[in-house]
Amino acid sequence: MTFPLHGRTILVAGASSGIGAGFSRAIAAAGGRVVLGARRLDRTQALAEEIGEAALAVQLDVTDEASVAAAFDAAEARFGTVHGVVANAGIGTGGRATDVPVDGLRAVLDTNLLGSYLVSREGARRLIASGSRERGDGRIVLIGSITAQQNGTGDALYAATKAGLAHLGRQFAREWIRQGINVNTLQPGWIPTEINAEWFASARGRAEIESLYRGRLLDADSLDAMLLYLLSDASRQVTGSTFTIDDGQS
Ligand code: NDP
Repeated sequence: MTFPLHGRTILVAGASSGIGAGFSRAIAAAGGRVVLGARRLDRTQALAEEIGEAALAVQLDVTDEASVAAAFDAAEARFGTVHGVVANAGIGTGGRATDVPVDGLRAVLDTNLLGSYLVSREGARRLIASGSRERGDGRIVLIGSITAQQNGTGDALYAATKAGLAHLGRQFAREWIRQGINVNTLQPGWIPTEINAEWFASARGRAEIESLYRGRLLDADSLDAMLLYLLSDASRQVTGSTFTIDDGQS
């Protein structure tokens, strides 16, 4: 079974690299239009050129409410209603709790938790105004992490924000359940991207990969089918749920 997205427009926050760039390609391949949001516009513009007419690159800083609103304005000006939001922008603190400066901690909270809140809320506001209640086609997917379920991940606040996202998803799901908007959380296992490149290149990082049950990291495209499902008509009766895809890592 495939999950087509013809006629749907999806905004991906954090589309300039890694998982978000992969999601954006998958959305376009499923027939959807995709709005590529990130701070590094040069990266998203290059990706938009690669994808073609179905893609639009927009400047987006999820921690800035005005930037979030401007990104949706640009998306609507090009494609009309934005039916789906993938709240994928995320950063780590890159350090142990005893070492991380408070500015780094605030940046993680602002990006992972508040930023996901702001893009989801803006998407929901506009969906409701556009008549999602009657259509039932609003979809929001929050990108959490298996660290939400693990102890001793080495990045306590990152893990806490990801646990918070799963709960935020359940709260939003209930808040918008009569507005035709479904909200779910996808929790991936470890995938090699920019966020963890340094760690997995280190001796301790390589040892961690060896210690995983299958001794390997997850392929980013192993998330695509679940993401497309959660954005499509097929998931019309799925909301407030959390899905883990981790190749048995947890
Ligand atoms: P990357 O570092 O490759 O991607 C992070 C993305 O977030 C980039 O596109 C970056 O774009 C964007 N971003 C960061 N801050 C902001 C901001 N303030 N406003 C807008 N966009 C922002 O890592 P991944 O692809 O791995 O990470 C994507 C998501 O997946 C994150 O939420 C991460 O926590 C999650 N995840 C990753 C896992 C992994 O093992 N890789 C496992 C589980 C979850 P830019 O810098 O251009 O703004």
